Amino acid sequence: MELARKLEILAAGARYDASCASSGSSRRESGGIGQALPAGVCHSFAGDGRCISLLKLLKSNVCRYDCAYCMNRASNGIERAAFTTDELVSLTISFYRRNYIEGLFLSSGIYSDPDIVMEGLIDVARTLRKVAGFAGYIHLKAIPGCGDALLRAAGLYADRLSANIELPTAHSLARLAPDKSGREILGAMRYIGDSCLEQAEDRGRLASTPVFAPAGQSTQLIVGASPDSDSSLLGLAQGLYKRYGLRRVYYSAYLPVTQDPRLPATSPPLLREHRLYQADWLLRFYGFKAEEILDATGPNLATDLDPKSSWALAHPSFFPVELSRASLEELLRVPGLGHVSAKRLLGARRASRLKYEDLPRLGMVLKRAKYFISLYGRRPATVPDPADLRAFLVDRPGPKASASAGEDGLDAPPAPGAASPAASVPATLPQGEFDFV
Ligand code: SF4
Repeated sequence: MELARKLEILAAGARYDASCASSGSSRRESGGIGQALPAGVCHSFAGDGRCISLLKLLKSNVCRYDCAYCMNRASNGIERAAFTTDELVSLTISFYRRNYIEGLFLSSGIYSDPDIVMEGLIDVARTLRKVAGFAGYIHLKAIPGCGDALLRAAGLYADRLSANIELPTAHSLARLAPDKSGREILGAMRYIGDSCLEQAEDRGRLASTPVFAPAGQSTQLIVGASPDSDSSLLGLAQGLYKRYGLRRVYYSAYLPVTQDPRLPATSPPLLREHRLYQADWLLRFYGFKAEEILDATGPNLATDLDPKSSWALAHPSFFPVELSRASLEELLRVPGLGHVSAKRLLGARRASRLKYEDLPRLGMVLKRAKYFISLYGRRPATVPDPADLRAFLVDRPGPKASASAGEDGLDAPPAPGAASPAASVPATLPQGEFDFV
């Protein structure tokens, strides 16, 4: 098979893996400059917040497993292909030299034993690093069920590893992806998380300690392929941040790419994915717990309100927050007040007595915040009754690419590269589904 045809098939096969963020577009236009068709290049975010373009490919789309939602599943009659190591190395280097990409995202179908599939991915990364001298970004898929020594080798060549857990409950995994083992997926995550931690500690003592997956690990959860609630998705994400130190959980709205009676006929609204990214942002950077975010609104996030406003409406006794003496944690609970504006406010009130007119200059979105604050005992706005207040706070964000920076969509995000304060998140399990290992 020609290399160009392989590229087409194996780029298409990798397209729905969101664990490295965005994919291609389907816009078809001719006669101009450029090409927006999915051709294997996607964008991701480095640890310092830079947007980087990645060549996103499968090594093989042959798969023994039969996950209901996946176009590469064993029972799907699609054309199959596989790259050799040399082909992948040569493609990566030639795309890099032409400045098309800054790195490689490489995954694979499970065409053989997990050890053999993982060895195949490592071989590409090793050849790129050791033979071709490639120093760019490499994201490798961690194959659940492979040996720890192979995960170790993968982490020594890759910047980031990801094992996709896909579904938020053991029951849904057994129903839609019966060949996958939640225990093996979590086992791979635990090994990677422990190795990242050990490496950080060892490098503190000995600078020559080999670097293991310096960009950490991520995973993907599919939204809406199973009837699981947002509470299940967020509860699992919270546990993964806490237990295995994940850098990111990506939420990917289910797309019907195969026919299967176990699956819903349509995709969930993209707004659901967007709200999950906002709630995830609150978990990672705003000190919220999953149980708080969803306790107020039931098992699913409201679609017409951002999760922070939902929480604020459900907790009127917490407000008003007195700006002249509130802690950072209290300030971060105010709708319309993000990390940057909260920190500016703390600095400004140390320097002088705050005035109401100062607040917009500090970055506070007063349109939302004015109902939830006081300044030296005075409230800047009369608080309407709950139904009217809710109506004021309702927002209708467009279906933008939620995985990008600033996904809370409302409050200013923390500085680029800010570490996720996941250690403050308790490792509680949603309705006792997955047993963390
Ligand atoms: S293991 Fe499942 S999700 Fe992964 S390629 Fe195979 S069928 Fe698709």
